[in-house]
Amino acid sequence: MLSITREEARPLDWIAERQAAMTETVMAWSAINSGSRNLAGLDRMATALEQAFGALGPVRLVAPEPVSAPDNDGCLQPLPHGRIFHLTVRPEARHRVLLAGHMDTVFAADHPFQAPRWREPGVLNGPGVADMKGGLLVMLHALLALEQSPWAGGLGYEVVINADEEVSSLGSAALLAAAARRADIGLVYEPALPDGRLAGARKGIGTYAVLAQGRAAHAGRNPEAGRNAVLAVADLFVRLARLPRVRDGLTVNVASLGGGGPTNVVPAQAVGRFEVRCWSHEDRHWAQAQVAAIVAEVAGHHDVSLTVHGGFNRPPKPLDAVQAGLFEAVRGCGADLGLAVDWAPSGGCCDGNNLAAQGLPVVDSLGVRGGAIHSAEEFLIVDSMTERARLSALLLMRLASGALAWPARGPRP
Ligand SMILES: [Zn+2]
Repeated sequence: MLSITREEARPLDWIAERQAAMTETVMAWSAINSGSRNLAGLDRMATALEQAFGALGPVRLVAPEPVSAPDNDGCLQPLPHGRIFHLTVRPEARHRVLLAGHMDTVFAADHPFQAPRWREPGVLNGPGVADMKGGLLVMLHALLALEQSPWAGGLGYEVVINADEEVSSLGSAALLAAAARRADIGLVYEPALPDGRLAGARKGIGTYAVLAQGRAAHAGRNPEAGRNAVLAVADLFVRLARLPRVRDGLTVNVASLGGGGPTNVVPAQAVGRFEVRCWSHEDRHWAQAQVAAIVAEVAGHHDVSLTVHGGFNRPPKPLDAVQAGLFEAVRGCGADLGLAVDWAPSGGCCDGNNLAAQGLPVVDSLGVRGGAIHSAEEFLIVDSMTERARLSALLLMRLASGALAWPARGPRP
């Protein structure tokens, strides 16, 4: 170690001794199916988290906001989500940290990938081991270490672990945003890259469903009386797909077109789903305006009604001055632990986008080193649990002790 003080070293050494216990726990958590739509499994996971984090303070399980989304017939259907884990410690403290993560995974209860197994010594393959049950253990041990340090009293924190991150956090966004407004910094435990690099800038994402309502008619007898909803969505898609040519780094993915039926009927209903991703808030505003303008044009041209659902539920997270200070602080802590901390931009997005959109400095890939996430090849480099827990613990201790300055919050973009 380079310049770690003796008081900092003691809690860090404690983490190093926890490797075997953390491995056992991550295997047990991986075997609990907590797919975003498996509410019973999410409740089991929430109970396991309550037991693990309960030593830190009182835990609440908060009901998510009600959410509905259009099905392929254009009807709004309720989307149930799991309860949100919320822990608050020392809310009266002058400085506060928001630590966020998610308990859900992309693997449904009927997916074949359900249990962990050793891929090779030190590399565990299992659902959620990297994204992000291992990361939740990193967060937990960093907090347990902080509590053993002499500076814990000066720092308050909230832990928010939602159950719908993999399905866009629609039921937990309001709680996360409110917690972000109360905090000085945000730490999120999404996995780092296998080589340890963090995600720096992240693209924002807009997720849309457009419902088209036209008019049915006989395709042979009076086609001119019909208003073709499938054709309107197809036209919309072609126009949307041209947008990236105008704006660098912006992508549009037209993803699905539902509706229509027998070939002798002009279809009256259709649903088109697409997403837009971009790097900057300026591009986001531009894309929002373009989508609205194209929808209006297509509705007029085809004489159909188009209703837009969704939007930029994950705004872009550029690596601006507000964000850079916290990254440098993490880098400094890493250097003292012998870890080279670097970062790279990511086209993916997470709750870190939404926290940053509240003006909060956020590092959102403080979890384990691992990879192949969202696939049955998902893996965790198990040593990285203690490695990354020590990194977060040192950061928290140095902020609490005043050895590191608190980065300033920014405006809401
Ligand atoms: Zn994740």
